[in-house]
Amino acid sequence: MMNKAIFLDKDGTLIPDIPYNVNPELIRLEKNVVDGLRKLESEGYLLVIISNQAGVAKGYFPEKALLQVETRLNSLLKSEDIKLSGFYYCPHYPGGGSTKYQSSCDCRKPKPGLLFRAAHELNIDLSRSWMIGDILNDVEAGHLAGCRSILIDNGNETEWIMTVDRVPDHKVSSVNEAAEKILNTFEIPKYEQRLEQL
Ligand SMILES: [Mg+2]
Ligand SMILES: [Zn+2]
Repeated sequence: MMNKAIFLDKDGTLIPDIPYNVNPELIRLEKNVVDGLRKLESEGYLLVIISNQAGVAKGYFPEKALLQVETRLNSLLKSEDIKLSGFYYCPHYPGGGSTKYQSSCDCRKPKPGLLFRAAHELNIDLSRSWMIGDILNDVEAGHLAGCRSILIDNGNETEWIMTVDRVPDHKVSSVNEAAEKILNTFEIPKYEQRLEQL
């Protein structure tokens, strides 16, 4: 049986958005996330962070600084009895520079590359998985990967450029509320799952 997952944006969703911050001491969990994540985990969802980290390409911090961010997030969640199953980030930004980071890529959201990589490495069924984020690029990345997507409508999206892939399945005000929506969505067993029951 494949896994199902909750893909979580980091900045502005899981933690308050401090632009380009990699100082672990400034990282804390957003309000109204812990209970929801715990419930989702107990329902069998893997929790996987999907984050754009253009600060690497822009030279604001080295890629290895993201290790201490990951360590901090792991320990904050672990102290709440929540397990993080993956931390995937895009270090790229197509800025015209010449380093290996300054090119277009298939993993900077709204592109779905990070979700595909996580799905491959963690054996995740994307059609049973959800993306949660605070801007429409998160929503689009989730949909392009074949997931359902929830927007945390907290004011961080300002442009509202809409296409069909950018229409959220739900709009909520917190991760806890997103968890309620997910856990109340009836899952229609897919053909493959019914086959397994035979
Ligand atoms: Mg965000
Ligand atoms: Zn990338």
